[in-house]
Amino acid sequence: MEINMKTTKQQNFERELPTGYKQALYINAKDAKFGIIFNLIALAVLAVVMILAVLLLRLGDKLSLDILDMEYVQLLVAYAVFFGAMIGYVVLHELVHGIAYKTLTGEKLTFGLSWSCAFCGVPHIYTYRRTALISVIAPFTVFTLLMLPLLVILYFVSPLYYLIVAFLFGLHVGGCSGDLYVLYLLSVKFKDKKVLMRDTGPEQFFYVPDEKNSVFTDQ
Ligand SMILES: [Zn+2]
Repeated sequence: MEINMKTTKQQNFERELPTGYKQALYINAKDAKFGIIFNLIALAVLAVVMILAVLLLRLGDKLSLDILDMEYVQLLVAYAVFFGAMIGYVVLHELVHGIAYKTLTGEKLTFGLSWSCAFCGVPHIYTYRRTALISVIAPFTVFTLLMLPLLVILYFVSPLYYLIVAFLFGLHVGGCSGDLYVLYLLSVKFKDKKVLMRDTGPEQFFYVPDEKNSVFTDQ
């Protein structure tokens, strides 16, 4: 009888691609077509969120001239908060991916920035579907749960900061389009828990047990 010597974390991934697996799909956010399409989707989502945010302000009769009447210093502070929060968001988003991967695998992470996206991956291993799913969707879950209540509060407290957070929320949801695509792939296309994913950051490789060449099949 074989004794499983793997730790809990090691059960979440493989160091080598096991025999009988074949690559089913490869996606690359640095690929021109993929990068452009997902950034266009992100911009469209941002536009929709901002239109909704402004409409909600108008509906609540909160779109007053207060913003235009603001002191120069107040607007400058708002700009600084906005740019700081935008950079902070990108860093924290990748960090949340990293925390999830690190917690579940304990393996070495990679972080980076390319023309089309910021990224975090765990490039030297093949993670099982559940681990990949949790790590990919962690930032979307965390920041949606943080930003939505904040938006509701700011709606009543400060229209200017409500619009700033609405913009960040739009960037967040739009920026997660790549992550949501991987979520779709893992929850619709690759439902088998034995599915493995290798995530280098910008690239994801999907592997499925090959039925024809399976080691379990008698030749
Ligand atoms: Zn992400």
